[in-house]
Amino acid sequence: MQVRCQRCGWSYNLGRDWLAAAVEEAAEKGLKYQQVECGKCRHGIKVPVKQLRRFAPRPTDGGAAGDAD
Ligand SMILES: [Zn+2]
Repeated sequence: MQVRCQRCGWSYNLGRDWLAAAVEEAAEKGLKYQQVECGKCRHGIKVPVKQLRRFAPRPTDGGAAGDAD
C-alpha cells in the first residue's frame, strides 16, 4: 500500500507484514489511525485504519484450506 508524505511528497510502500501488524495493533488499542513516520522528513503521516484493512492480508481463520488456483 502506497502512502505519501504531505509535507515533502516522498512516497513509499507499506509492506504486507507491516499492514497486518498495524491493523492488529489498531484493533487491540481501538485506534482509528496509524501513524507512519516519513523516512525523509520524519513528518508523521496519519493513515486511517479502514484503509489499512483494505490492503492488509486477511487473517486466516478456520482450517488451512488449499488455495488452489
Ligand atoms: Zn516527508
